[in-house]
Amino acid sequence: MSKIHYKSVEEIELIRESSLLVSKTLGEIAKVIRPGIKTIELDKLAETFIRDNGGVPAFLNYHGFPYSLCISMNDQVVHGFPGKHVLVEGDVVSVDCGVILNKYFGDSAFTFAIGEVSSTAKDLMRVTRECLDLGVEKAVAGMRIGDIGYAVQEHAEKHGYGVVKELVGHGVGLELHEKPEVPNYGKRGAGVKLEEGMVIAIEPMINAGKARVKFWDDGWTVSTIDGKPSAHYEHTVAIRKGQPDILSTFSYVDNVLKEKENN
Ligand code: MG
Ligand code: MG
Repeated sequence: MSKIHYKSVEEIELIRESSLLVSKTLGEIAKVIRPGIKTIELDKLAETFIRDNGGVPAFLNYHGFPYSLCISMNDQVVHGFPGKHVLVEGDVVSVDCGVILNKYFGDSAFTFAIGEVSSTAKDLMRVTRECLDLGVEKAVAGMRIGDIGYAVQEHAEKHGYGVVKELVGHGVGLELHEKPEVPNYGKRGAGVKLEEGMVIAIEPMINAGKARVKFWDDGWTVSTIDGKPSAHYEHTVAIRKGQPDILSTFSYVDNVLKEKENN
């Protein structure tokens, strides 16, 4: 789609349903992700859960992507393949999930710490999630795309982290990737004006070291050029007047992780 597709209130409610199923799927992942599990097991669990709830995994066969989840470990930034790899204590694992439900897409991602991770990784994850929150805060009618990017970039770089520029957020709706692009960098007051009816995925990809990434010859996996870890958090957000309407939620994941911590 080359033009921005503005959604009706009814369409936004459908995207909310799709995004909620994504959020619940990530909650299911949170329950089982731990040292000793193979990443392909997470993929199968996600596919089954999505289908049992009437959805279709949006990434499966998307431009030929072979899995339901993108699972990107440690120095992998995004679009990693689930596989036989067994997770170990200290891994940093970004899980990106998309579904189609009633023809509409939802898209959200969360980075999990496997057991105790390095203090660098822990700080990177915290800052990246803060970057998402700060970007989302700007996702209000009257602001501009550059305001989101500026907020994300300013916070990441203040902590000495690298902002990935080769990959960006996007509009979400009847397609997974619609206009406009939502970069994690930018100038305040610049770019497309945010208006009611726009639905966008905001997804900071932040590296512990250099910002630059490399693209693997599997055609998908993206990793940092310096081998340092990367983190990725994503929400699907509807633009409204006054405040952002966050259609996905981390509450399922957070509740599970809190419970795990207390056990
Ligand atoms: Mg995503
Ligand atoms: Mg996305």
